[in-house]
Amino acid sequence: MKTENNLSNKKTVPAATPRYRNFPMVPRVVFGSGSFSQLGDILLPMRKSSEAPFIFLVDDFFENKEFINRVPLLFNDEIIFISADEEPKTGQVDALVTRIKQQYEEPPSGIIGIGGGTLLDLAKAVSILLNNKGLAKDYQGWDLVSRPALYHVGIPTISGTGAEVSRTTVLLGPEKKLGINSDFTTYDQVLLDPDLTKTVPKEQWFYTGMDCFIHCVESLNGTYLNAFSQSYGEKAMELCQEVFLDDIPEEESRDKLMMASWHGGMSIAYSQVGVAHAMSYGLSYLLGVKHGIGNCLVFQHLEEFYPEGVTIFKKMMQKHNIILPKGICANLTQNDFDVMIHVSLGLEALWENALGKDWKSLMTPDRLQALFQKI
Ligand code: NAD
Ligand code: ZN
Repeated sequence: MKTENNLSNKKTVPAATPRYRNFPMVPRVVFGSGSFSQLGDILLPMRKSSEAPFIFLVDDFFENKEFINRVPLLFNDEIIFISADEEPKTGQVDALVTRIKQQYEEPPSGIIGIGGGTLLDLAKAVSILLNNKGLAKDYQGWDLVSRPALYHVGIPTISGTGAEVSRTTVLLGPEKKLGINSDFTTYDQVLLDPDLTKTVPKEQWFYTGMDCFIHCVESLNGTYLNAFSQSYGEKAMELCQEVFLDDIPEEESRDKLMMASWHGGMSIAYSQVGVAHAMSYGLSYLLGVKHGIGNCLVFQHLEEFYPEGVTIFKKMMQKHNIILPKGICANLTQNDFDVMIHVSLGLEALWENALGKDWKSLMTPDRLQALFQKI
């Protein structure tokens, strides 16, 4: 019979070979206290000509600080100070690209991002848009960039996001908060100098550090977990616990948190984040809540998903006397909740990683709203 034939034919077709993702990694990295003084030597061979400047995008916290005299400027190199008070926006990237193109006859030799996740993401996006036509918002998504980015170097001054190692740059666009995820986003060179994090205020240190801790919890408890992610996630988790729960010397703590951030970023590269990030993106889109604190505000209420992680998180908060603001969602309208829920549930891969293929029946809009209402 026809049906039987079809069935028996099917049996002879070999099972599809799984397709594994082929990720780029940062090809060069220097780590160590004081390593910032090597930056000039690292950049020199990458300089195209005396007319092709290096553009340093620097967190404006460093404006008028002693540190700025150590930036190795030559010829017409330029420092552009940028505030990290707000998360990076697609329009901000476009404006920077236009300014750089108008100001210099020759394309720059490279872009150097110096700061936290905000500056690291901006520098990645600017280097992509300098070599690709159109607007930053056109590239929000997965693998939409066709030409390699301009040479770009990332230098974190606060530890936790993993932006120094990831293949994404998270931007707030006119319609969505979404990364430019591409093989060309990843930095060509990263310089990890833990001394640069000495001036980070305590609360910010905690919030950005918890971003790393939450990356680990979400990766290690996700359905996408595999040996690659687990190996990095476990190491990052161990380092976070030493930094935030043990009493280790400050210098060692700075070194370890910087490496935790790196490993946490590597862990999610080959898996995904989960419930806290999906919700925190919603908060950030509607209310402009910054990523680190947004994750903490959400994560404290997620014991049903991450019981062990939330217990450790609360211990860490207590040890460092961190008091999170309350009532963030107290005065929101139903329309506000709908916007947050829409943004959050749109991040399908995060939910699938957290709750499995059947996540839509588990995380209904009502259940999600009840979680937001606790914040
Ligand atoms: P941030 O860059 O927003 O900076 C937070 C604050 O710390 C700012 O006020 C900044 O001026 C200050 N600061 C930074 N370094 C300092 C220093 N050495 N001394 C004193 N103050 C300092 O913080 P963040 O938490 O690192 O980054 C958050 C951003 O990272 C968000 O925009 C988020 O979307 C993004 N992010 C990106 C990725 C990625 O993979 N691309 C991952 C996670 C988060
Ligand atoms: Zn994060």
